[in-house]
Amino acid sequence: MPELPEVETIRRGLALKISGRRIVQAELRRPDLRRPFPPALAVRLDGARIGALRRRGKYILIELDTDGLLLLHLGMSGRLTVGGSALCSAPHDHVVLTLDDGTVVRFNDPRRFGLIDYVERAEEERHPLLAELGPEPLDPGFDGAYLGAALARKLTPIKAALLDQRIVAGLGNIYACEALFRAGLSPRRLARSIGPARATRLASAIRSVLTEAIAAGGSSLRDYVQADGALGYFQHHWAVYGHEGDPCPGCDCGGGVRRIVQSGRSTFFCTKRQR
Ligand SMILES: [Zn+2]
Repeated sequence: MPELPEVETIRRGLALKISGRRIVQAELRRPDLRRPFPPALAVRLDGARIGALRRRGKYILIELDTDGLLLLHLGMSGRLTVGGSALCSAPHDHVVLTLDDGTVVRFNDPRRFGLIDYVERAEEERHPLLAELGPEPLDPGFDGAYLGAALARKLTPIKAALLDQRIVAGLGNIYACEALFRAGLSPRRLARSIGPARATRLASAIRSVLTEAIAAGGSSLRDYVQADGALGYFQHHWAVYGHEGDPCPGCDCGGGVRRIVQSGRSTFFCTKRQR
């Protein structure tokens, strides 16, 4: 599932290809993904000119000159591809946008947990999916003081709290594990036990793992786009995520990376280094 760095890489790649272009055909090949498409979506998109692309948490927001925004979430298996002809479609290409320069953008999603919505600009702040999101971790307001106060109200383990999009927007399982490893904090520690010094360390670790991953996304892909036109799923080396049994990087614990399951999700960590 794409998290903030992957979504940001997709946003940058997509912006290079579609910003300033006009949609000449919007084709919806089914009525829904995770939930139904909004009424008259194809009509609203047909003829719209695409402005800036923004990101909020794991959502991509595409500005249109219709005074609205196209809101995208990739869910578990969603992919965006650009280029090629509208004729050579793959299975699960559910939404196909043809632009005025011939570029074709496809939203492909075999499992259909993705989401597409149309948001009136005036309604953006009140949109149910956006209104409850916590701060962007790379914005200046996200620091140890904020994070410590937010976590102090949580009765869950800290790992689960970091996945709560109301506390911080855009983190998922992978980067929560990586940030806790970097900060030297046990994923099992209760969120409210963190205290100011650890909160500062954690906020800093969150920012650095995300910043490095975004940089890796930009440098591993030409124009952020893979050879097959897919956007955003770059190769990146994670320190602990997916490394059960491997030696911990920079750690002499000897035990290697452990995996436990928390709230149904795998957590990878070092029992010695993370307290
Ligand atoms: Zn270790």
